[in-house]
Amino acid sequence: MRMLVVEDEHRIANSIKKGLEQESYAVDVAYNGEDGYDFASTEEYDVIILDLMLPGMDGIDITKELRKEKIHTPILILTAKGQIQDKVKGLDSGADDYLTKPFSFEELLARIRALVRRPKVTVDETLAVSDLTLNSKSFEVKRAGKLIELSNKEFSLLEYLMKNKSRIMTKDQIISHVWDYDADILPNTVEVYIRNLRNKIDLPFNNKKEMIKTVRGFGFKIE
Ligand code: CA
Repeated sequence: MRMLVVEDEHRIANSIKKGLEQESYAVDVAYNGEDGYDFASTEEYDVIILDLMLPGMDGIDITKELRKEKIHTPILILTAKGQIQDKVKGLDSGADDYLTKPFSFEELLARIRALVRRPKVTVDETLAVSDLTLNSKSFEVKRAGKLIELSNKEFSLLEYLMKNKSRIMTKDQIISHVWDYDADILPNTVEVYIRNLRNKIDLPFNNKKEMIKTVRGFGFKIE
């Protein structure tokens, strides 16, 4: 997991960096808006922690520009206490969450974890494979018009398979896209989740074609 911290107050920026590094995240820091924007638009990050009040380009400008360029990296904005208008503006411009300064490091970590688990694409997008649909914004999954309840992980796994429809995805590919780096992965974890998905996606529709396929020795696909 790689993070970008954009914050002009060096003391805060450096303490966030130090704390995140202790949690095994890789962290880049930018101390002004222009550098922050350059990093965010050229490197790949899992989360961007973005102060709103920055010299030069501010946090709102950066968020708007990135979203305009279809860069959907989750953005957590930092605001000073009481700036309610800023929070609203920040979220409206395409940020995913905000945190008011001063904040505890534990809270920052919790927010980051929640953002990393969230599917990366936050634009309204419906994926469809045959009569199965998945909406990454409303988190709705339906087959033949019938709503299907999935856990977060089942949802992420299904989304990953649907994005790669008809392609065989190996267990390693699935794990690196669906699970956190520190997740407790057992050798049969992927199989267990695939079985859960089958029980919800294929089994209740036994008059229909099975969609989730195991390709023995290679991996899994949906078609
Ligand atoms: Ca600032």
